[in-house]
Order: sequence, then C-alpha cells, then structure tokens
Amino acid sequence: MINNLCKEAYMTAKSKGWHDEPSETGTLLALIHAEVSEALEADRKGDHENFAEELADVCIRTFDLCGLKGIDLESAISKKMEFNKTRPYKHGGKAY
Ligand SMILES: [Mg+2]
Repeated sequence: MINNLCKEAYMTAKSKGWHDEPSETGTLLALIHAEVSEALEADRKGDHENFAEELADVCIRTFDLCGLKGIDLESAISKKMEFNKTRPYKHGGKAY
C-alpha cells in the first residue's frame, strides 16, 4: 500500500515536470522540511485543516523521494516500528 503511494507520488511529480532534471537528495530533503515548516505555521495559526494538508504534503514529498530512489519504504517503516517497540522508556536520555 505505502509503496504504491510512493510510485503514484513519484509518477505524478514526474508527469508534472518535477523530475525533468535530476535533483540532489539534499534538495528533495529540504523540500520535505519546507512542508514540515508549513505544518508548523498552520498549527501556530490554529488552522487544523491546513495542518492536515501540510502533513499530507510531508508524506507526499517523502513518498516521491522514495519512488524516485526505489526505496522500499513500507518495509523500512515496518522494521523501524518493530525496533521502536524494543526501545527502553524515553530512550536516549533526551527531554523530548
Ligand atoms: Mg505545502
């Protein structure tokens, strides 16, 4: 399911010309970060509808990157979620 969304996001971006020239991975990661910042601003304004839309943009840009690079995101998420279950309470000694 998730890998299908990655393919779809990538194919949509490609069809709209966003992959006509190669993009550096750092640029694509920065664009994901830009969507995170847009979500932050939506939350600061109390705009719940836009907050959800910007979180969707974070996912779509992540899916696009994974589609471009042929990353099996579904498997990576499953593995990481299982690993997270094994971690100790508030692991890493960080405040949050
Ligand atoms: Mg956005």
